Amino acid sequence: MKHVYIETFGCQMNKADSEHMFGLLDEIDYKATEDMDKADLMLFNTCTIKESANERFYSYLGMAAKRKKKNPNLLIGVSGCVAQDKKTWLQKNFPYVNIVFGTNNIHRLPELVRQAERGEKVYEIYDELPFELPELPVIRQTKVTAWVNVILGCNFNCTYCIVPQVRGREKSRKQEDIFQEVKTLAQEGFKEITLLGQNVTAYGYDLDPNYSKEKATFGFIPLNPQYSLAKLMNYIHDVEGIERIRFLTGHPFHVTDELIDTVARLPKACEYFHIPMQSGDDTILKRMARIYSVDKFRKMVEKIRDKMPDASVTSDFIVGFPGETQEQFFNTVKIVQELEFDMCNISVYSPRSNTPSAAWDGQISEEEKNERFRYLNSVLTGILEKKNKKLVDTVQEVLIEGKSARNENKFAGRTRRNTIVNVDPGVNLEVMSPQGKLADVKITKSTPWALYGEINNGELPPKASLASGGRMEN
Ligand code: SF4
Repeated sequence: MKHVYIETFGCQMNKADSEHMFGLLDEIDYKATEDMDKADLMLFNTCTIKESANERFYSYLGMAAKRKKKNPNLLIGVSGCVAQDKKTWLQKNFPYVNIVFGTNNIHRLPELVRQAERGEKVYEIYDELPFELPELPVIRQTKVTAWVNVILGCNFNCTYCIVPQVRGREKSRKQEDIFQEVKTLAQEGFKEITLLGQNVTAYGYDLDPNYSKEKATFGFIPLNPQYSLAKLMNYIHDVEGIERIRFLTGHPFHVTDELIDTVARLPKACEYFHIPMQSGDDTILKRMARIYSVDKFRKMVEKIRDKMPDASVTSDFIVGFPGETQEQFFNTVKIVQELEFDMCNISVYSPRSNTPSAAWDGQISEEEKNERFRYLNSVLTGILEKKNKKLVDTVQEVLIEGKSARNENKFAGRTRRNTIVNVDPGVNLEVMSPQGKLADVKITKSTPWALYGEINNGELPPKASLASGGRMEN
C-alpha cells in the first residue's frame, strides 16, 4: 500500500475533482494521507483564478521539491487549471514534477501514475472532455454533505476568466447517472447534496437535441427544454434519506422562472441562490461580457424574493476591473447596499494571462484595488451584522455537519440559507451525537459571518418566519 497527499486549491469544482482523484488512486492502492512526510505521491490540484492560489501552489511545490531531494522516489503531480493552461511552462521550470495532467483527463490518473512509477515523465493534457463523460469512483472527504458534479465547463466568455479555456465547453452528465450517485450518497448516510458546476444553471441544455456549440456561445436556453437544472432537482427530489438539495454556481442569464418556481415548490430545495453579479455598473458589466444589466439582475433578485421571502441571495464581486472609475466602483457599492446580499465573495481583479482584460489599458494600481476591496468589505460587514442580529432569538433548522473546528465541545452546521451556525448541544456530547441530524437551534448570538446557538430541547418559541414586514431578513 502507498500513500497520496493531495492539496487542493480554488473552488468547489476542484475539491470535488480531488475526491474523484482519491477514488481513482484507491483503485491502485494509494491511500489518502494528510501527512506530507508519509506520502509516496504528492498531488497539487491547482487553480488559476486568483493570484493568491497560485502563490500558495508555488510554495507547496517548493515543499515537495525539498522532500524529493531527501526521497528521490517521491512522485510529484500537478493537475487542475494551472496544469491545463501551462503544461509547457511547468515542464520547463519544474523538471522534478513527474506528472502533469489537466481537467479533462482525470479519469486517466491511475494509468499516468503507473507510467510515472516506471520512471517516465508524464505530461498529458486533453483539449476536450471525452465524448462520453466517464463515471468516476469517489472517496468523499465529508460525511453529511456531498458535492455532485452535474455539468462541467462553461459556454460564456467573460473577459477576465480563464475557466472556458481550461475547463472547455459545457457538458452535462446524464440525469440517470446523477440519480444513481445521489441514491448511493443517501445509502451512505449523506443528508445534503450540492449540485455543482461552473455554470450549474445551464445544466441539461447541451443534452437537448437542438443544442449546437455555435448557438451556445453566449448562453442558450432551448424552448421547452427537455432537461434543465429545475427538472433535475425534480428528478432526484424524492431520493429517500436526502434532506436538502442545493446548487452552485449559477450565471444570472440562466436563472429562469422555471428554476425559481421549482426551488420555491420543492420542500428539499434550499432557498439559497449564489449568483455572481461581479459589478453594479452597466459599462463594466459590458466590458466583462456578462450579458446582463444591473436592472436585469435586480429584477431577478426581486423575483426570487417575491416567491421566497426567506431566500438567501449571495453573490461574487470583482473590484478594480481595468478602467473601473471611482463612480463605477460606487455603483457596485450602491447595488450591494440596495439588494442587501446575504453574503458576497469580494475579489480584487487580478489579470490572468490569456484573458482579454489582462491586456487592456486602465489597469488599476494594487493600492487602489485593495482600498476598494476594504471599502466594499466594510459595507458588506455592516449589512451582514444587521441581518444576522435579527436572527438572534429565532429558531433555525440546522443540519449538523460535525464538530466545530474551533471548539470541540460544539458542533457546526448550516441553515437552509447556508449560514454557518456553531451549536452548543446542551447535553453530554458522548450521549448525544447530532452529526447528520436536522436540529432546531435557538440562535443566541451572531457575528457578521456566523451564528451561535443551542439545540432547542425544551419548548420552542414559535418558529420565526424570518419575514419582517413580509420580507425575510438574515
Ligand atoms: S460564467 Fe464567466 S466567470 Fe463564470 S466560469 Fe463562465 S466565463 Fe468564467
